[in-house]
Amino acid sequence: MITCTKCGTRNDDEARSCRKCSKKLQSSRQPYVPQEPVQPPLSRFTPQGLPPDQWRSFRRLLEAWAYLAVLIAVGAGCVYYETWWPLYPAVAVLALLLRFRRI
Ligand SMILES: [Zn+2]
Repeated sequence: MITCTKCGTRNDDEARSCRKCSKKLQSSRQPYVPQEPVQPPLSRFTPQGLPPDQWRSFRRLLEAWAYLAVLIAVGAGCVYYETWWPLYPAVAVLALLLRFRRI
């Protein structure tokens, strides 16, 4: 048995290349060693202590809530003044913002 060093597939001793990934097999029978996952460097962390990905999604969520709050405020104002026209530009602007920020 020759174990492929790339994908770990077991091939026959006579096989010259892996039957799965067609990597050229070495004559020496090396055991399959999975590669260690690369750890992100600690310097990528934000001052808030959150990983960049989490921080980004958190900020995105916060922004979405802020837009929703604005929409509710505009809606409340419209109800109070019994006028509906400010709602349309507000919704349009928010829709554009959401599209632009890709929330
Ligand atoms: Zn292979």
